Amino acid sequence: MKSYHKYLLNNIGSDRETLTELLTTKDTELRNAIFGEAELVRNLNVGNYFYFRGLIEFSNKCVRDCLYCGIRANCKSVYRYEMTEEEVLNAVDFAWKHNLGSVVIQSGERNDKEFILKIARILNLIRKRTNDEIKVTLSCGEQTEETFRYWLESGASRYLLRIETTNSNLFRKIHPCDGKHLFSTRLQALENLKKTGYQTGTGVMIGLPGQSIEMLASDLAFFKNFNVDMVGMGPYLEHNESPMTSSSEQKYNPSERLELSLRMIALLRLLMKNINIAASTALQSIDPEARVEALKCGANVIMPNITPLKYRYYYQLYENKPGMNIDGAENIAYWNTQMQKAGGFPAFKLSGDPKHFLLRKQRTQIALQD
Ligand code: SAH
Repeated sequence: MKSYHKYLLNNIGSDRETLTELLTTKDTELRNAIFGEAELVRNLNVGNYFYFRGLIEFSNKCVRDCLYCGIRANCKSVYRYEMTEEEVLNAVDFAWKHNLGSVVIQSGERNDKEFILKIARILNLIRKRTNDEIKVTLSCGEQTEETFRYWLESGASRYLLRIETTNSNLFRKIHPCDGKHLFSTRLQALENLKKTGYQTGTGVMIGLPGQSIEMLASDLAFFKNFNVDMVGMGPYLEHNESPMTSSSEQKYNPSERLELSLRMIALLRLLMKNINIAASTALQSIDPEARVEALKCGANVIMPNITPLKYRYYYQLYENKPGMNIDGAENIAYWNTQMQKAGGFPAFKLSGDPKHFLLRKQRTQIALQD
């Protein structure tokens, strides 16, 4: 690696011009240096073992109408389901039996009391069942601060809420203009998650129609400035029933989206050395090997799908979702070998708190004592 490349990459800040240049450079040596350095930084700061989060797609019932999403409220052809408490607990048992240290409960968004109480009950049951040994991440959309706190007290410890894009104009374009999908509310929800005490995760879609490279550079700067603990981001993928698919805005082809996604992951690792970064499922839709590539260039989290097979088909945020028929056990075995292919090891049994969060918590406690 050229020494000035190494110097540049080790002194990377959130300067948008440099980030834009690094996201687009055609210099293959520099491109390879970005990936190589990101892998090194990951190994030095969070190690070369990869954490598992068993993904449970709890329900596709959704009150929102995000224009990119295949389970949005207005997608009338989708059969709507919701897992029972027992089904969720069976999935958690499965995760535990297979030594996964944590699970993610993801769902279409609902804000009604019944939903809020059911999630809380499930969290309490998981806590009891596993002696608090399995950490739970929630990914259930925008909720009030009160709900976030209630779920935290019921047993959740992490929350994923993607900002989707940090450009408020683009955010407006990819959501309906109904006063219910506001950039400011999303940002406030993220602030509330952090304030409440969650390990806070966010992310963006990459290669949206009308998204410029400068916007992606700003997304990276946002992650850094917001001081997030974990990031899940991946390529935007079309869904044939979503209004955005027919958008006439400038588009990226799948291989451009893939390359941009990998560079976003690598640059984020250089910017934020000790956070958790997921190799998202959407990457795999473009290229079966893409998640391994992501693990090689800075990502350290894999989320194998452990949703009961009978529901998988109905939770399609985008087309060609991979792993529709691969059962959980097969998936975990597959990742065991893939992780070694990516030069690391599966971190079985570990819940995998991001180092970044532990340090952030320590600092807050010290500040409070002062
Ligand atoms: N309802 C929850 C979680 C489900 S959606 C929430 O809104 O947070 C989880 C993520 O999937 C979204 O945040 C979005 O970034 C991603 N997603 C949705 N539709 C997508 C598409 N067409 N292509 C790529 N990612 C998509």
